[in-house]
This record gives sequence, C-alpha cells and structure tokens, in this order.
Amino acid sequence: MSPPTTQAPLLAFTESQMVKFVRAQRWPDYRATQIMRWLYQRRVRTITDMTDLPLHTRVLLAQSTSVGRSHNPTVISSQDGTRKLLFNLDDGMTIESVLIPDDERLTLCVSTQVGCQLDCSFCLTGRMGLKRNLKLHEIIDQVLTAQDLLKADERMTNLVFMGMGEPLANLDMLKAAVVGLTNKPWGLGWSRRRITVSTAGLASRLREVAGLGVNLAVSLNATTEEQRRELMPAASELATLKTLLAACRRYPLASHQRLTFEYVLLAGVNDQPSHARRLVQLLKGIRCMVNLIPFNEFPGSRFRRPSEQSVLQFQSILRDAGLDAFVRKSRGRDVLGACGQLGNLIAGPLLQP
Ligand code: SF4
Repeated sequence: MSPPTTQAPLLAFTESQMVKFVRAQRWPDYRATQIMRWLYQRRVRTITDMTDLPLHTRVLLAQSTSVGRSHNPTVISSQDGTRKLLFNLDDGMTIESVLIPDDERLTLCVSTQVGCQLDCSFCLTGRMGLKRNLKLHEIIDQVLTAQDLLKADERMTNLVFMGMGEPLANLDMLKAAVVGLTNKPWGLGWSRRRITVSTAGLASRLREVAGLGVNLAVSLNATTEEQRRELMPAASELATLKTLLAACRRYPLASHQRLTFEYVLLAGVNDQPSHARRLVQLLKGIRCMVNLIPFNEFPGSRFRRPSEQSVLQFQSILRDAGLDAFVRKSRGRDVLGACGQLGNLIAGPLLQP
C-alpha cells in the first residue's frame, strides 16, 4: 500500500481549481492546461515526468502536490477474459472496477463510492454499508489505470458507472469526472454516448444526469411498490416506483437516446410471466430498452439464479409486447466481478460460512 500523502492530488482538481492554483503560484494560465494534459492524456505517475514544465516549476509543484494515482492495483482475471481491478486507497480502503470484454466491446465498470448506503438485497456491495464517497482523483484513476493495463490491441469502448456505490449519491464528483473523461483539449475525449450512469432510482436527481448528456440506466428490479420495497428498501424510501417512473417519463431524452432499465431476475421472486406482463404495462410510453440480468449468486445470498428457460420466457414476453429486451451475459462470475458481486474483499466476513 502506498504511504498516506498529505500533498494535494492534482487529479482531484477540476479545471477551474487548477487555473486558480497556477494563478496563486503566479504561473501563466496555460500551465493549467499543460498539467491537466500530463495527468489525463499522458497518464503520468510522477511530477518529475512532466518534462515540458521548467525544472523549478516541477520542484515547486512537488512540494505541495502529488499526481494522485493509485499504486499496484491487484488484477484478478476471469476465465472469460473479464478482469477485476482492486485498488488500495490512501486511507486503506479498497474499491473495485471491472474490465468486461464482449465481442467488439471492452467496457469498464467504474465505482463511485466505497460501499453503498442503499441496501439492495441482491447486491453484495450493499451489505458493506457506505464507507465514503470517492474523490475525483479516485474515480479518474480507475479509468487511467485500466488504460495502462490494456494490451496493445485493446481499446476501451464503453464506460459504465455501475460499480460500487450509487453514482447519483456522489453527484458532484460524478459530474466532475464526466467533464475530465469527455474534455477534448486536456481530458480523455470520450464521447458522451459511450458513457452510462446507472442509478437505483434517485428520482429527484435524474434531471441533473440529463444535463451531462450521458446515457442513463435505471435499476428497476420490481413491478410493484411492495416488491420494490422488499428488494430495494432504501431506494424505495427515496422514491416510490410511481415517482421514479414519473421522473423517467419526464426525462428529457435527446433524439438518439433512450433510457435503459436494468432488471435483475431472481428465481421465483420477480421472474414470473406475470411480472414480465406488469413490466410491459409500467414501461408503456417510455422510450427505453430493458437489460435483463440473471442474478449472479454470491456466498450468503438468499436469492438464486433463474433457469435459462425462465429468463428466455421473460424476455420473449417483453419482446412480444414490442420492448427491446436483452439478456445481459454474465461476465466474471468466477472472480465475483459480475453485476452485484463487487465488494467481496472488503466484505470478507460475509464470505465465511
Ligand atoms: S445495487 Fe447499486 S445501489 Fe443497490 S446496494 Fe448495490 S451498489 Fe448500491
């Protein structure tokens, strides 16, 4: 683990904070862009590596700041090519990201919190409780580190904020991260169309996501208020199913966009034909697609994965009603890197028999 640092991490600075910082040093404004480029585009790990800055500038910079990158993430590879990255944070906490290959795509699933304050009953992360929000540099570092780890013929194609935590509960850092990821002059230049933010249903904050221009996925998982309260108690308290769907109906979609609804299928709980038919009714009038996620089991969970037959039956009911419904392939299950399985190392005691 890296030693705790008292120096300010440069990657935690937004562009305006960086400009303010360089002005305070009486450096020219263009130094801000120069430093941001080194951080984002050149992925430097030390200030010494910022070789087009004058030596005395680098010395001064290193006196009060650090780059803010993590050190030596642990990489656990699944048999299907999925890689789970474990990051040690400066305060000893651990977070996870997952690199998921799928045909032409290579998606990075990014975390926004250590743990999660919501308590979705089918999710391992939820059992940890919320330890804290991630800071900007800790979010960006997951993407930069994943890029460092890519093989020469690999290119990341999609970013999804679906890792540990509820992204909309750390909205300011999420917004700042999207700016860094998409900025062209100094940032990573990602297209907003390739970035998806997933929420468990913080209805009152959906409008702010719309302003980011990224894709929105809503984790639904239930078709009645009662069932959603049972499966996602904390999220239901923040917004009822009715309120959430009303917010989705009002969501200002651009012409190329549609909402994604995520639906984790739990055997014998929410995977019956009657649930599928109710889901069709609930989503009427919303431009959307549905991702069906057969539950990924983890030790200690009371839920079971449904049979392939019931998954396909559920999907065909949605499709017959004209909904685009896809069954998400489960990746990385053998390393607990699949959806809802993140957090096993920190939640170690859960894994004891
Ligand atoms: S599913 Fe998402 S929102 Fe729910 S507990 Fe897990 S990480 Fe939190």
